[in-house]
Amino acid sequence: METCDVAIVGTGPYGLSAAAHLRQVKGLDIRLFGEPMSFWERHMPEGMLLRSPWEGSHIADPENHLTLDAYRSVDGNHRLAEPVPLKDFIAYGRWFHQQAGIRQLTDPHQVIRIESAPRGFRLTLGDGEALCARRVVVAAGIKPFAYRPGLFAGLPASLVSHTSDRGDLREFRGKEVLVLGGGQSALEAAASLCELGAEVEVLIRGSAVHWLRRHPWAHSKWIAWMFYGMGDIGPAGISLVVQRPSLFRRLPRPIQSRWDALAMRPAGARWLKPRTQGVTIHTERTLVQARVEGERLRVRLNDGTERLVDHVLLGTGYRVNLALYSFLPQELLRRIALANGYPHLNIGFETSLPGLHFLGAPAAWSFGPLMRFVAGTKFTSKALRRRILEDIRPHTVLQPTSSYEFGPLQSRGEAP
Ligand SMILES: Cc1cc2nc3c(=O)[nH]c(=O)nc-3n(C[C@H](O)[C@H](O)[C@H](O)COP(=O)(O)OP(=O)(O)OC[C@H]3O[C@@H](n4cnc5c(N)ncnc54)[C@H](O)[C@@H]3O)c2cc1C
Repeated sequence: METCDVAIVGTGPYGLSAAAHLRQVKGLDIRLFGEPMSFWERHMPEGMLLRSPWEGSHIADPENHLTLDAYRSVDGNHRLAEPVPLKDFIAYGRWFHQQAGIRQLTDPHQVIRIESAPRGFRLTLGDGEALCARRVVVAAGIKPFAYRPGLFAGLPASLVSHTSDRGDLREFRGKEVLVLGGGQSALEAAASLCELGAEVEVLIRGSAVHWLRRHPWAHSKWIAWMFYGMGDIGPAGISLVVQRPSLFRRLPRPIQSRWDALAMRPAGARWLKPRTQGVTIHTERTLVQARVEGERLRVRLNDGTERLVDHVLLGTGYRVNLALYSFLPQELLRRIALANGYPHLNIGFETSLPGLHFLGAPAAWSFGPLMRFVAGTKFTSKALRRRILEDIRPHTVLQPTSSYEFGPLQSRGEAP
């Protein structure tokens, strides 16, 4: 059976960044699994613009060579600007994949099972092949965590779906659609549906839509660093702590939870506001009943009113729960210390089961809300690389990437 030192499951921003960093550790045999940027391509609304700012949307590479700025300097990309369109971000991710010299280490197959093995882990792939890895880095994203309230259990997907189920909303042209949720996904879907000529109502639980405003003075180049981190995640001040995960993880748990909730509360980017002008938004409303009636859905709201609609679109977000990763069997899950479905991770993003790491949203319990965004790739990949270097050479002090600790970066092109 084939073997490797590190297997990375998932090739979204976190998997790509981790691979780019680990690739520079001399002699380390790494493999990546999955189709690059597939979640962004298949499960985000077509025509979406990134909510994260330019500075918070670079996928981190060890030399800071593969930034969005570098991508913009490539022929044909000079018009790229903030907010970054989804299609450009996907193209950027694929360019990163090529330029970082990790393409030849990538196998597009899905990992369907991870099990313990005598010297690490055994991974089974979608094509039936298997390999053994000393370490596994799971960077598999949030798709399985899409939250569907119990009320909709058993209803057909033709009548109720989650925003992550539909990148293309054209089938709802001229239809009546109820959107649940007041976050970016829900509001963006509502705006797109309205532009397509659907009749849209949005129900939000809060008393108002929270629009992310940018105070021109606080976000000016000269002052912003005093209030906001690069990722611009969370309110002024808190955003600075969010940007420093090793500080965030030392805060008392009640403060971490409160600040995480503040940073992640449902909100819409300011540039979305004009696009939702034609959308009816009801505040303090939710659904209490839903049943199929012919080919449509009859729903009852908490104000007692009813609607007969063609579709309910759930913009209800994501709730991390490792048990929903179908490739993790119970035997493995039982050996991972969890809190609310999140793994407890040490400073090297490693679980209580040595050699098994989680990156991205599952790391948010241990490192805070930065982990839910691309802006967290820099901190994460460096911490992971440091941990793996320690394993290879105990007490190694991390050197600049140009030092002897690492193989040379093989130009900005593919490694031979
Ligand atoms: C609508 C929407 C808008 C967003 N906008 C922003 C934004 O503007 N800025 C921002 O920073 N973040 C945004 N996010 C959050 C975004 O999802 C994360 O920042 C980012 O995707 C994290 O990268 P990742 O690598 O952890 O996960 P992903 O990008 O989801 O990548 C994980 C990859 O792993 C693959 N995979 C999963 N399981 C397996 C398996 N078993 N085998 C092989 N491969 C597997 C998946 O197919 C996927 O390609 C948004 C999220 C949503 C839903």
